[in-house]
Amino acid sequence: MRTSNRGMSAHGGKALFVLPLFVVGLIAIMEFTRLNTVASSGCPPLNSNVKGWPKNTTIYFDVSDLIGTQQTQARSAFQKWTDANTNNNTSGVRFVEKGPNTPAATFTVKRGHVAGSNAAQSDITTNANGIVTGAIVNIDVYDFAKTNPGQSGYDNIFLKIMLHEIGHTMGLDDIPIPNPNSSCGGYSSGKSVMNAACGVNDNGGNLPTKVKDCDNNTVKTNSIYAGSGGGSGGTGGGDTGGGGNPPQCNYQTVYTSVYDPAELGEGCYRKYHRVDYVCNGVVQWSSAETYDGIFCDPPLQ
Ligand SMILES: [Zn+2]
Repeated sequence: MRTSNRGMSAHGGKALFVLPLFVVGLIAIMEFTRLNTVASSGCPPLNSNVKGWPKNTTIYFDVSDLIGTQQTQARSAFQKWTDANTNNNTSGVRFVEKGPNTPAATFTVKRGHVAGSNAAQSDITTNANGIVTGAIVNIDVYDFAKTNPGQSGYDNIFLKIMLHEIGHTMGLDDIPIPNPNSSCGGYSSGKSVMNAACGVNDNGGNLPTKVKDCDNNTVKTNSIYAGSGGGSGGTGGGDTGGGGNPPQCNYQTVYTSVYDPAELGEGCYRKYHRVDYVCNGVVQWSSAETYDGIFCDPPLQ
């Protein structure tokens, strides 16, 4: 895990509040000498810098650079996280593949060389509050010591890798290696998507093929995913002196209608919406625009 300042990024007129952090999440490959599993608590911690995508938002992803089974498996990983976020934890974050009528993707997955013994690397951009605003994952499909089409496990290694990397964007951190001297690092086999992989194509079986209870339970402890609904923030507590009032933050949905009589006809418009994260009346972060479709006003009488 490496954190460094990536500098300012333009975000409309809100650049003052946008201080992206550059965070690298890595999935390490453990030496695989023999199969055995070691019991431990084995659940992932929260990352203190990356909080996760905003609660109850739709995140568009792009896996067009992947080919064949890589692409199919990556899609499956996004679907499994969407299912978990909808049914098994309180985040409400949905991942949807970008299409011709959707907003641009903010989560992109690519083939690439990744240094060292890492099978994949995520570059995650956040605002100053740790809310994720973008992610780029590079999967090393070129180093056959990491992923290898000629060995067993190739049919789900990209699913496993992407479950892990998406987990980073949900605020989860790597589980520290329980025992560096043990086979596969001494991880509880298959207990969390935030385990390290073990051997080529995770032949050692450290990684599960779905989001586990362990992972959902940690997501539920994430402060930005607290509660069950998407309600507004509370009214704040007392001022204890010296620290000022705590910020009043909530999510607000903003609808936009773009009329286009030349192309769509009189009174017809394209409708979009986005979600703003607002603290003390100042927009801290905006989601990408979601395209809702073409609508027409009722004819004038
Ligand atoms: Zn990792």
